[in-house]
Amino acid sequence: MFKFGKDEVKCSGCRACELICALHNKKECNPKEAFIKISGNFPEPGGYDMKILRGCTLCGECIRICPTGAVFEKPVKEAQ
Ligand code: SF4
Ligand code: SF4
Repeated sequence: MFKFGKDEVKCSGCRACELICALHNKKECNPKEAFIKISGNFPEPGGYDMKILRGCTLCGECIRICPTGAVFEKPVKEAQ
């Protein structure tokens, strides 16, 4: 089990995460079907908002494909 970590500064806006999420979870080549949403903070250059939407299965595919490490696994702290 893991929690989602995201670092918007590292995101290049390539949107590979959206595509792999939609392919893996919905069997559709349609980034709009993804549980991760990348949107540009225009007019600021290079700024992206990253949102994880309800329904995310924590499959980890977006983490595996992200070329910049902008999404990553955060360990869940065990209850003491
Ligand atoms: S989170 Fe990673 S895979 Fe997704 S758009 Fe940003 S750089 Fe690309
Ligand atoms: S971990 Fe969530 S957002 Fe990432 S590919 Fe899987 S379902 Fe999509």
